[in-house]
Order: sequence, then structure tokens, then C-alpha cells
Amino acid sequence: MTFASLGLIEPLLRTLADLDYQTPTPVQSQAIPAVLKGRDLMAAAQTGTGKTAGFALPVLQRLTLEGPQVASNNVRALVLTPTRELAEQVLQSFLSYGQHLPLSSYAVYGGVSINPQMMKLRKGVDVLVATPGRLLDLYRQNAVKFTQLQTLVLDEADRMLDLGFARELDELFSALPKKRQTLLFSATFSDVIRQMAGELLRDPLSVEVSPRNAAAKSVKQWLIPVDKKRKSELFLHLLQEQRWGQVLVFAKTRKGVDQLEQELLAMGVSADSIHGDKPQPSRLRALERFKAGEVQILVATDVAARGLDIDDLPLVVNLDLPINAEDYVHRIGRTGRAGSTGEAISLVCADEVDQLAAIENLTQQLLKRVDEPDFIPDHRVPQTAVGGQVLKKPKKPKQKLIPGAAKPAGKGNIHLGRWFEEEDAKPKAKAVRKVPSFGSKPKGGKK
Ligand code: AMP
Repeated sequence: MTFASLGLIEPLLRTLADLDYQTPTPVQSQAIPAVLKGRDLMAAAQTGTGKTAGFALPVLQRLTLEGPQVASNNVRALVLTPTRELAEQVLQSFLSYGQHLPLSSYAVYGGVSINPQMMKLRKGVDVLVATPGRLLDLYRQNAVKFTQLQTLVLDEADRMLDLGFARELDELFSALPKKRQTLLFSATFSDVIRQMAGELLRDPLSVEVSPRNAAAKSVKQWLIPVDKKRKSELFLHLLQEQRWGQVLVFAKTRKGVDQLEQELLAMGVSADSIHGDKPQPSRLRALERFKAGEVQILVATDVAARGLDIDDLPLVVNLDLPINAEDYVHRIGRTGRAGSTGEAISLVCADEVDQLAAIENLTQQLLKRVDEPDFIPDHRVPQTAVGGQVLKKPKKPKQKLIPGAAKPAGKGNIHLGRWFEEEDAKPKAKAVRKVPSFGSKPKGGKK
């Protein structure tokens, strides 16, 4: 299949040739003809599948071929995204794909001054990419009008709801013309998303390009068990030992991000970070520096987990597992994109076994465990089973290693003087326990 056979016009085909996009990805070959015809769309597609071009190309084409000219303060196509980073990235895609077209594209999001955005909107823009909160601010101040709106795209709808934008979205939807085309993209489809789709879409084409909630196949994933307090030490050890190149590292908290960044900088490793406490310009700068290869390590909280497109990122490391199992899929989706392969390594401590089991349940695969000599944890990570179960280790007699004494038999990798049996002092859990769902549904559940 070629892009020409999908019905795209010459200026877009020229751009795609310049970008060396040779064949459409599955989401593109399904979405482009339908969107060109004006159909609504409900697409289950993760980032990395080429979904942005899947909506941007046909939207640009329709705007080019169909009038009218955009009036002041108006927008003709609106793309809503959950995060500022994704808004900026989607804008870049529109600018790139639309480079030979007489259309204007712009992005608005919070964390930066609103005045330049109001000024820019005065002339009207053909494509506006926006985060819901800032867009609502602009709308309430009459800086943006939707009279000419013909297409609405909801990108990463599930993430927008996760981030608590439901009220803003409702208010925005009620301000939009009823007659319009709506395209909804979501990595996962909870009942709430389905309900939203039911209210917003008219006879949509459903497109599903990767198994729901499945982690990208091109990513090799495994975990290294480690004690909680030794995680950053293990990360620094692996970084040097394995001679890692660029790495995107996810930590659970802003504090954890800052700490690792400081340790890396103290070691002379170039590092930057992204988290919700940082002002927007420094978040964007960190991402740009990382993309440009000026920074070796980017440490981030989950704010960076979705939507970021970083070319050929070879490695993602989870310093901590995410609380929400679906975020794991998004995090590791930063690597192994658009046909390349990648690796995702998780440093997992005993406390995280429930999160681990939830991830394995969601992805329906057990993560291979690889011990790192010298980092075998004192607190073992209990075994898990597909289906979200945590299997309790058989009870063993307590043993302590006396520093300086010989290694116990059969414990080849154990660090002398650090080895204790798993902490047995805690109350016993049942032999098999179900993990909390972390907001996700088991595979095979109602879509
Ligand atoms: P997305 O899923 O939209 O974030 O896109 C993932 C990456 O794939 C981006 O870097 C795109 O530039 C790239 N891409 C999208 N479509 C194609 C294609 N048909 N051929 C090659 N690369 C593509």
C-alpha cells in the first residue's frame, strides 16, 4: 500500500517522501481514507504506531480542500491533548506535514503566559492544538471561538480523563458546533471512555491497531530485583558497566527524579529532568536537549510517559514501577518505536510486587528476572504468576550471614556480609492473593 493510494494530495505526498515515510502504518492505512471522507473515528492506538500522521494528514488535506478561510479568533480544527509536551509535539507534526500547504497551526497550553497566545489567536488559526485547561481559559475570555470548527481530535483521551480533565472537556464539548467530525484516539478503552465516545461520535469507524493494553512487541523487557535503598546505586552501576548511551529513566516521585539527576550530575554525567514542579520552558528545554543528544540521561515522572516521540531511543529504565499499570505500557512505548527495537529494564524492589503483578496481568506476560551480581536484594521480590497473582515464597529457616564467614552453599551471587533471608517479621499474607487492579481491567474484559 502507498500513501498515494490512500487519496492524499501531492503537497502531502511530497512531504512524506521528504520524510522518507515509505508505506503507511496500519493505523494510517485505516484512518486516512475514512477521515478524508469525513467519518468519525474511534481508534485504539498507542503512540509509536504513527497515529499522529493518521489524523494530521487527512485533517490538513480536508482543511486545504474545503473552505472557508479562517476568521479572526476562530479555529477550523482542534486537537486536544493531555500534556503540554504532547501538544508541542503534535504541533510540530502538523507544521512538518503541512509545510507545503497554505495553513496555519498553533499550540496553546498552560504554564506559559496567556497574552502571546491571545495575540496569536486574533488572526485565527486553521489547526489549534491545546490542553483542555488553557483552552477553556482562552474560550472564557473570548480569545477563541468555535463557529468555524469542523474537526475535533481527542488525542490520548484516556490520559486526559486520568489527569482529571473531565469537567473542562464537558464544558468545551458543549461549546463546540454539534455538526462536526470527531476523531477519538486512546491507548486504552475503559467504560468511561466508551461512554464518552458514545456521546461524542456519530457512527464511528473503529480502528484497533495493537492488541489492547499490549506492550509494544519490539521492546525487550526484563527486570532486575534490587533493594529499594540501592536502586540509584544499581542504576549508576549499570550505566557505567553496560556503557549505556541515551536513557530515559522514570521515577515515581519528583523528589526521586531530582535525587537521581543530582547524583548523575555529581558523577559528571550529563542529565536533565522533567516533572510537574518544573516550569514549562525548562521541561521543554530538557526534552529538546535530550532529543538533540546534548543530554545523556533524561529523568522523568509519568508526566513524560505518554506521547513523547523521541527518535530511536534505545533504552527506557524504570527506577520505580508506576502505580498505574497502564503507565508501564506508555513508559516503555518510548522505545522500540516505528520499527526499531528497544529495551525496557525495571529495577524492582519487594514493596513493588503488587504493581509488578498488575503490570504482568495487564500485558499478559511475566517479566524475566535477571539478577545483578552484588545487588541481590536482602528483601526478595516474591514470585508472581500471569493472572496478577503474587505467590508467596515457601518459608525457609532464618539465616544470617556472619560478616567474614564463608558464603552459604548455593548462593553464588550473594554479596558477602549483606545477605539475610527475606524479612519474615511482617504478618503473613495468604499464600496467593489477587492484586489490586490499579484501575485497569483484566484482559478479555468488556471493551
Ligand atoms: P506517533 O505514533 O504518531 O507518535 O509516531 C511515531 C513515529 O513514527 C514518529 O516519529 C513518526 O515520525 C514516525 N512515523 C509515522 N508514520 C510513519 C511512516 N508511515 N513511516 C515511517 N515513520 C513513520
